[in-house]
Amino acid sequence: MSEYLREKFKRLDPYTPGEQPKDQKYIKLNTNESPFPPGPKVLEAVSKDVLANLRLYPSPDQFELKEGLAGALGNPELKRENIFVSNGSDDIINFAFMAFAGENTPAVFPDISYGFYSVFADFQNVKSVVIPLTDDFRIDVSDYQVEVYQGILADEYSTPGLVVFANPNAPTGIALSLEEIGDILEQNQKSVVLVDEAYVDFGADSAVSLIPEYDNLLVARTYSKSASLAGARLGYAIGNAALIQDLELMKFSTNPYNINRMTEAAGLAVLRESDYYLDNCNRIITTRKWVREKLIGMGFFVPESKANFLFVGAGEYASEASIWSRITGEEIYKNLKENGILVRWFNKERIKNFVRITIGTDEDMNELISVLERKGNEWLR
Ligand code: PMP
Repeated sequence: MSEYLREKFKRLDPYTPGEQPKDQKYIKLNTNESPFPPGPKVLEAVSKDVLANLRLYPSPDQFELKEGLAGALGNPELKRENIFVSNGSDDIINFAFMAFAGENTPAVFPDISYGFYSVFADFQNVKSVVIPLTDDFRIDVSDYQVEVYQGILADEYSTPGLVVFANPNAPTGIALSLEEIGDILEQNQKSVVLVDEAYVDFGADSAVSLIPEYDNLLVARTYSKSASLAGARLGYAIGNAALIQDLELMKFSTNPYNINRMTEAAGLAVLRESDYYLDNCNRIITTRKWVREKLIGMGFFVPESKANFLFVGAGEYASEASIWSRITGEEIYKNLKENGILVRWFNKERIKNFVRITIGTDEDMNELISVLERKGNEWLR
């Protein structure tokens, strides 16, 4: 840290991304990427049509991509004006914090959720209302109302600017129903409600159908998970046209060219071969099911996940009869790593006996299970 850094940033605790080892020998189940490569149309589009034009800036308004995305939603009420595109959905969440939350207009989010929400809040001096998940790691929609916020903020209460949660939630994988999301919207009509749908394509209900009904609803999506394009950095938001204009204001006041030509071409190509990605999601859902059953059979606690990962509890969460009740989340993480498998462990009090395991190919997951079985037997001895 230099002596020149602004005082307000000196205590900033940045987001810690999952490891991206150069050494490819790991089975990488730590950052919820797709185990499947982008489809052939992406490879074709990026290599042939685009590279020759890289001397030119990309489109700042991205009309073609927005039109394609709006069309893919299959709802004639949602048009280009309802779509915002940006450099990954992290960028969108950041812009939403910038646009809608502040020192006097707090942001509300769950205690166990995507770690970036609290980082954006701290970065932008936004007051946070952190709502604990229930004991079984669920979002209880009745906690998302004014009286609860007042209780947390006490006398300095002000109406939240932004309520944000992931659906399905991360790292739990647990999803809310559409009805529950509707309840949160009803209870928070004076705030923007941002539903982070990074993992929605793996089986949860999307809130997009509620957009024509609620002017305060924003949905954020990403190409990083179900569309196999984490490396391209492409996210989009869907919402009422006025909210989208607010996000455009943030983007055009910081970095209007934040989607490069290669990413734009890749994003358009994904829309032309959507069946390939749908199939991949279905494969992941099928794999997730057998892996979860297997892990539960071994004694782990594994909530039902609608995402491309499982949240796997050992220690006090595991069945008492199993070896896993005597093992910590950190030990599991370290032992898997020693055996060539990377998973994610969060050094956070409430979830420190969990690891989050991305669903890879069947082959990856068979290896995971066999390493766990072998380690379990070793620990038993
Ligand atoms: N939301 C959630 C819940 C996530 O887990 C992630 C990925 N780390 C993101 C948003 C951001 O994804 P990206 O910026 O790659 O679109």
